[in-house]
Amino acid sequence: QDVKGPQTIAFNLPNDERIVNERGTSMVMLKNISEAKFKNILKPIANACIREEQKEYVDFEPYYTHIVCHECCHGIGPHSITLPGGKKSTVRMELQECHSALEEAKADIVGLWALNFLINKGLLPKSLSKSMYVSFLAGCFRSIRFGLEEAHGKGQALQFNWLYDKGAFILHSDGKFSIDFTKVEEAVESLGREIMTIQAKGDKPAAQSLLQSRATLTQPLRVALEKIEHMQVPVDIAPIFGTASKLLANN
Ligand SMILES: [Zn+2]
Repeated sequence: QDVKGPQTIAFNLPNDERIVNERGTSMVMLKNISEAKFKNILKPIANACIREEQKEYVDFEPYYTHIVCHECCHGIGPHSITLPGGKKSTVRMELQECHSALEEAKADIVGLWALNFLINKGLLPKSLSKSMYVSFLAGCFRSIRFGLEEAHGKGQALQFNWLYDKGAFILHSDGKFSIDFTKVEEAVESLGREIMTIQAKGDKPAAQSLLQSRATLTQPLRVALEKIEHMQVPVDIAPIFGTASKLLANN
């Protein structure tokens, strides 16, 4: 079913820093929903927007493993910080309305960094080392369709534009995109460092200026969105909760 979204595929709760500190976080992943999204949304988007020679890299495994890493990176932080002068605070309280978009971007980009780290440690297969970046690029176009008002869309635009400006994403004259594998690793690391430094300092002016300068609908993003617009790919899917419906019907 086509809905506006975003429909959750994973959650890492609670969000309250006090409870996180006392009890930790718990993560839930919804694999069947992820598979439906991949097949019905990400694949068609990739077909329209990714260059022929890199299309084969768009794959469910790196896509799904990246979602796991994304959720883990939310849990890792930084959450609680100490401001200059010794005052204790949280990233959420300091960054206020900038927090959600920046936190989503952090989870994505550090999640991507973490995948690469795990591959280099031999804990994930080498086969993911290219497919993770191409699948991520296709995923950028998916999330930006949620709109730049929404935290995931805004966070994704920031990442897309940062990586594009660093030469890691290339737009070709045929309107399709590819990854420059020689540049992407460093570009990912530099954005992760930028965001987490802002968070660790609780630096709201820096957060604002980063979002204002990069989380915008730039020309290359417009090219991609226009392509997808013409294809009638759903923005998101809605799950049918079989057990719950049966229980309700029996009552
Ligand atoms: Zn998230």
